[in-house]
Amino acid sequence: MKIKTTLLFSFIAITISVFACNKDDGNTNSVTPPDTTNPPSTSSKQHVILVSVDGFRHDYTEMINTPNFDRIVNEGLKAENLVPVFPSKTFPNHLSLVTGLHPENHGIIMNTFYNEEGDKYSISSDAVKDAKWYQGEPIWVTAEKQNVKTATYFWPGSEAPIQGVRPSIWKPYNGNIANTTRVDTALNWLDLPEAERPQFISLYFSIVDSAGHRYGPVSDEVKNTIGHIDFLLGRLYDGIKNHDLAENIQLIIVSDHGMAQLSRDKMVFYDDYIDENEVSFNGNYSPVGTITVNDSSKKMEIYNQLKDVNPHMKVYLKEEVPAELHYSNHPFIADIITVAESGWSMTTRDFFEDRPYSFTGGTHGYDPFDGEDMHGIFIVNGSKFKKEIIPSYNTVDLYELMCSILEIEPANNDGNQEKALQILKQTTEN
Ligand code: AMP
Ligand code: ZN
Ligand code: ZN
Repeated sequence: MKIKTTLLFSFIAITISVFACNKDDGNTNSVTPPDTTNPPSTSSKQHVILVSVDGFRHDYTEMINTPNFDRIVNEGLKAENLVPVFPSKTFPNHLSLVTGLHPENHGIIMNTFYNEEGDKYSISSDAVKDAKWYQGEPIWVTAEKQNVKTATYFWPGSEAPIQGVRPSIWKPYNGNIANTTRVDTALNWLDLPEAERPQFISLYFSIVDSAGHRYGPVSDEVKNTIGHIDFLLGRLYDGIKNHDLAENIQLIIVSDHGMAQLSRDKMVFYDDYIDENEVSFNGNYSPVGTITVNDSSKKMEIYNQLKDVNPHMKVYLKEEVPAELHYSNHPFIADIITVAESGWSMTTRDFFEDRPYSFTGGTHGYDPFDGEDMHGIFIVNGSKFKKEIIPSYNTVDLYELMCSILEIEPANNDGNQEKALQILKQTTEN
C-alpha cells in the first residue's frame, strides 16, 4: 500500500512538474526533460534479484527453445560467457560471485578442504554454517552493515554469521524445497513493508547441475531442466514486470560454472606414477587433485614423478600455479595441485575398476581457461543496464556491480570496477 501511495504521489508530482514546465503538448521533440534533481522518493531505492542456476553452461540456451530466457535477453543484456574462478566448483564460485574475491582471498578454496589444524570444510556438513571459514565479505554483509536489507533463498555461505552478520531473511539449505516456492517467496518479499523489504534477494536452483553430473551436458535430462528453469525465470520475470517497483528491480541471472562431458576413455591413473600411500588427496582427486605428501621431505620427489608424465594432467607446486588462476596465496591450498584437461578424469586404477558407472556423465572444476566448457551464463535485465550482447563478464566483477546498483560502499575486492560497471547505462541515459 505504502509503495502504491508513494508512487501515486510521485506520479502526480511528476505530472504536475511536466505540465508546469511544458507548454508543448508532449508530441514534439522540444519537450523539456523531467526535472531529475527532485529528491528521490522512497520507491527510488534500487533492488537486485540475483539468481544462480548451478551448472548452467553458457551454451545451454541454444540446446532447446527458451522463450523466457529470450525475452529477458532481448529486453536486457547478455554476456556470451561468464568466466568462473578456479577451481570451477560450486562453493568457491558462489563465494566469489558475492564477495568479488578469488578463492585464495575469500578462503573457500574448494568444496572440500582442511585447515592447518586438520578441521574439515565440506559442503555437505555443518561446516558451511561456521563463520570461521569465510574470510571475504559477502554483499549481504556489506549491505546489512549499511542498513540495506537483504534476503537469501539459498546461497552458499548465507547460513554462517560472517562478521556476525547474516541476511535479514535466510534459509538453511534444503534442496527439496520446490523451485516455484522459492520464486514465489522472493516475489512476496518485494511486497513487504518498506522497512522490512530486502533490496538484495538471492535465489538458487540446483536441478541443471544435478542432471549435468548424472547424464552429461548434452542429454535429454539436462534439456528438461533447462526448460524448467526457463519456466521459473518466466514466472519470476512476469512477477517483477507486474510489480509496482518494476522500474527499480534489477534482475541478474548467473551460473557458477559450466559442465564437461566425461568418458571412461579419458582417464589418468595416479598410481601409474606414484605410490598413493605416500600422499593424501584431502578429498579431491578429480578434476582437481589437492595433494599433501605424507613425508614432507619427499615433496619434490612426488612432484617430479607426476610432473609432465601425462599430457592430460597439469601438475603444479602450490607456488607455481599460473597467476591467472589465483591459487597460490592461501595456507589451506595443498602442496601439489593437479588439474585434468577438460573432460578428463584422474583417479586410481582400483577405484576406477570398482566403479563401472563412474567417470561417465559430466563434471566441472577444470581450469576456466581450458576451452569454454566451464563458462557459465550472465544475463541482466532492468532499467540500470545497457541493452546489448557482450563477449564475456568476470565472476569477480559482480560484487562491484551489485554494490554500485545498491549504492553501498564495497569492501576490498579483486574486481575491476571499470569493467564491472561498463554494462550500466551512463547516468545521463537514465
Ligand atoms: P558441486 O559438488 O560443486 O556440483 O555442488 C553442487 C551441490 O551443492 C548442489 O547439488 C547442492 O546439493 C549443494 N549446495 C548448493 N548450495 C548449497 C548450500 N547453500 N548448502 C549446502 N549445499 C549446497
Ligand atoms: Zn555448481
Ligand atoms: Zn556440480
